[in-house]
Amino acid sequence: MAQWFPKIAVLELPGERGATAVRWNAHEYHAESEFYADFGNYDVKLTAPKEYTIGATGELQGTPAEKDGKLTHHYVQGDVHDFAWTADKRTARPLVDTWSGPGSPQVKITVLFPPEYESNAAPALKATKDSLTWFSNTLGPYPYKTVTVVIPPHNAGEAAGMEYPTFFTADSYAGLQPGTLDAYQLDFVTIHEFGHGYFYGILASNEFEEPMLDEGLNEYWDERMLRAAGRGIDATTPLLKAIGIAPRFKVFDFSRLGSPREEPADPLGENAYTRLQGIGPVYARTATAMHDLEEQLGKEVLERAFKEYYKRWKFRHPSVADLRETLAEVSGQRQLVERVFAQQVYATTRVDDRISSFSSEEVLPQPGVKLSAKQAEEKEDKIREDWDKAHPHAKDGTGPFPYRTEVIVRRRGADVPQTLVVTFVDGSKETVRWGGEQRWQKFEWTKPVKAVSAEIDPNASICWT
Ligand SMILES: [Zn+2]
Repeated sequence: MAQWFPKIAVLELPGERGATAVRWNAHEYHAESEFYADFGNYDVKLTAPKEYTIGATGELQGTPAEKDGKLTHHYVQGDVHDFAWTADKRTARPLVDTWSGPGSPQVKITVLFPPEYESNAAPALKATKDSLTWFSNTLGPYPYKTVTVVIPPHNAGEAAGMEYPTFFTADSYAGLQPGTLDAYQLDFVTIHEFGHGYFYGILASNEFEEPMLDEGLNEYWDERMLRAAGRGIDATTPLLKAIGIAPRFKVFDFSRLGSPREEPADPLGENAYTRLQGIGPVYARTATAMHDLEEQLGKEVLERAFKEYYKRWKFRHPSVADLRETLAEVSGQRQLVERVFAQQVYATTRVDDRISSFSSEEVLPQPGVKLSAKQAEEKEDKIREDWDKAHPHAKDGTGPFPYRTEVIVRRRGADVPQTLVVTFVDGSKETVRWGGEQRWQKFEWTKPVKAVSAEIDPNASICWT
């Protein structure tokens, strides 16, 4: 489900009806977790008054049969582990379209929406089509012939953001406008709930015992989709946008902000029901931990590994260990994968690197056996004077004497590959890469110019979970 994003404002008004999306299956809810069930074939007949619009998991068989002013709708779907349906007499005429992609059957997309949220229908359809393209290209072809998207009616917000096989509820926003936070949220919820169709639906991991494999990996893959499309988060409203306030965040940066500020208490690979900090961190911390693993393995290797994970485990029930094994085998970097899992999945090691000292000082003539302190000083003054005459427009931070620059870095958390960049007054840079278990390291340079800044992880490639 989509409980990852704080809403800026929630307006609650009394309404005449409650939620219309209903889940219909035999398994039990558990606090903060959802599904685990086996695959089956569903053959379901729903009888409802004629004026009701019906949406459900799977394919509608023929034309609904009419009897006594009621219609019986017949749905069939194999290779799914749940069935959901909706019946609402206020639904507007549904928005219907098709999608096709290599290896997938032609997919019929139906968006069910109430008249008050008409502005949400086309964006939800577009986000669903984009998601079909992304997930089928990056994991594997979409195997079903339908997707049904439900925009919940007014005052039925609790029905929003919920996934079922071939069927999900998105969200609803009054007067939706492009380029706003609402538009971003509708897109994200649509992508996220569709994405569950792969991670919860087809891969069907156990959400009670290992929620990371569904909510976590889904969040990660959704954010990769937005990153690939060059999408940022438009943190603005129509009103703020009108007065020119429209900040934009990178999706993974925002996820990082969503990680708990306090020391993480629950490993990502832990179950859903004994978590001190709840299920929330599973979304953000899995996305950031996998993002950091991707930085180390490389994008192409990571994508190959996820395709293989999907190929091996679709319609089965993978565990966290199966994910780890697939990543280790495909990448050929078992040691690295096992280290990341040991630190970030089976434990809660934070990334905590810092610059503990930074200095850049002139190397001056030193007094010694042949040079008294006074002579050394005089020599320094003379050299400086000559140099100033020869370089009347010299910049601060340059001079007759070289500069010795020293940076000490400290490591208090996980072992991650790290980059330090030191920038000098003439614009030149020194870049060093460091990693390993050492708790501190010292780097030194002697150059004609003074250093002006030292920075670790300058490209923000590590999410600092
Ligand atoms: Zn979710």
